[in-house]
Amino acid sequence: MAAMNNLMELFQYLDKSNCRKCNEKTCLAFAAAVFQGRKDVSECPKLSPEVIARFSDNDGSGRPATVEENRDEYLADLKRQVAGIDLVEAAARTGGKFDGQRLTLKIMGKDFSVDRDGHLFADIHVNPWVAMPFLGHVLFGEGVSPTGKWVSLRELKEGAERYPLFKKRCEEAMKRVADTYTDLFDDLVHIFSGRQVAEEFASDISVVLDPLPKVPIMICYWKPEENLESTLNVFFDETADRNLDVGGLFSLGSGLAAMLEKLALRHGFPELKPSA
Ligand code: SF4
Repeated sequence: MAAMNNLMELFQYLDKSNCRKCNEKTCLAFAAAVFQGRKDVSECPKLSPEVIARFSDNDGSGRPATVEENRDEYLADLKRQVAGIDLVEAAARTGGKFDGQRLTLKIMGKDFSVDRDGHLFADIHVNPWVAMPFLGHVLFGEGVSPTGKWVSLRELKEGAERYPLFKKRCEEAMKRVADTYTDLFDDLVHIFSGRQVAEEFASDISVVLDPLPKVPIMICYWKPEENLESTLNVFFDETADRNLDVGGLFSLGSGLAAMLEKLALRHGFPELKPSA
């Protein structure tokens, strides 16, 4: 019920005119869309800046800050569910390893594990926006091997609705980093075990990352040219929605973008503050 409480919390600030300026039929539909990550709270022109700030996504996840407690609840629920499954079977299905105690998957080159009690262990900080897709994949992923055919989030199941916010939280955020921080793609290869691949879609640079062994992500960047802005697009394998739901794919992309913004900041590009 926590999600519904938060939804109604936002709803009470809407003017209930159902004016449709946000392209939703009703104010209630708008509040629901915000909490599903399909709309940004700033898309209602009638809200005050204070309310927008209060309900804005400020962690790069694509979901409002007030959903944080639901996120923890959701994560705890996934851990409980994992505690009951056959980790030997899950390891075979997901491309991981089971050592008798823990199932381990490589997440961008680093070990990420779960044990029979649902406890998580990682070489890296256990970020919820990696932990949730990891557990979702272990629980529900079909384990289909990637085919090498790249598609955008829009082309995946239920991806079209999420795409506008994904573009903002993931692709535009990464593009800002790539435009300024020219070593980005080298760092993706060296720090995150990415691999540069033959340029796809006539891009200038294409790098593939493996946030999960069977859910690769390809980032393509087109450099700016005279009178033409740069472009950055993120692609998934056509099988991605069988291995992870669209919420998990969104989480991986936006979480990765937020991580790259932080990396660029550490390398001395203070203008690249994580997007509000
Ligand atoms: S723009 Fe704002 S007031 Fe108008 S319908 Fe959407 S949420 Fe309601």
